[in-house]
Amino acid sequence: MDLGLEGARVVVTAGAAGIGRAIVEAFLAEGARIATCDIDAEALASLPPAVFAARVDVADAAALTGFIDAAAAHLGGIDCLVNNAGIAGPTGRIEEIDLAAWQRTLDVVLTSQFVATGRAVPHLRASANASVANLSSIAGRLGFALRTPYAAAKWGVIGLTKSLAIELGPDNIRVNAILPGIVAGDRQRRVLEAKAQARGISFAEIEAEAFRATSIKDYVPPEAIASQILYLASPAGRFVSGQSLSVCGDTRMLA
Ligand code: NAD
Repeated sequence: MDLGLEGARVVVTAGAAGIGRAIVEAFLAEGARIATCDIDAEALASLPPAVFAARVDVADAAALTGFIDAAAAHLGGIDCLVNNAGIAGPTGRIEEIDLAAWQRTLDVVLTSQFVATGRAVPHLRASANASVANLSSIAGRLGFALRTPYAAAKWGVIGLTKSLAIELGPDNIRVNAILPGIVAGDRQRRVLEAKAQARGISFAEIEAEAFRATSIKDYVPPEAIASQILYLASPAGRFVSGQSLSVCGDTRMLA
């Protein structure tokens, strides 16, 4: 299926590895032009040369703003912004989590989306097919014990998304949130290991528990997240805005 994304100007935060990398590669395969940033210089160096890439910590608002400006200048505008950057944040009981860890999680997960979107909006307004995809999480729908900074930030992403969809709809900019479930990759392994440790149970037990309340009992491939975002960015997604779309195999509870 031709998604009509040939030549689309796409900015993805944290696109050097993980889900962001899958998003970058999926857009490239459709003939889109990509700018991305990441904190990991080594991973950035492994991106195809066609990708405009910059080393940025998205929690640094000035650096992120500079990246959006540079990306827009390089691409000649922005049609699609994917606010993908996120960190797991600390695992522990609320009384054990220090303020700096809480703040860092909110800065990377939520404030970066506020900063990047605000800066990209003038470019998106000038696009004939403008969209924003914000990465939330099923933790932003279900809540997540022992991961309060992450869950709170991801619920914040939902509020940001819905409000922006209403605010920017008259400018023909659609805004949606994607809620990945348990995605295959290193990050999820680390998250489950930390959770098993915090709960004093084995990895096998936490893994079994994680899938107990999920209808499709398998890790979601990052490509499944990417293909959802491509659809939303394509002209076919023109009337999908303000939505929170779970790509999770129907997870109903988080362990
Ligand atoms: P990841 O941990 O694999 O990291 C992806 C990339 O983010 C890496 O290249 C890393 O270097 C970069 N990064 C980390 N901190 C950064 C920062 N401060 N500034 C710039 N780049 C930074 O993450 P992922 O699993 O690919 O997750 C991507 C998004 O999807 C995040 O928003 C995450 O919260 C969300 N998500 C992931 C899962 C999952 O199971 N992996 C589930 C739900 C939601």
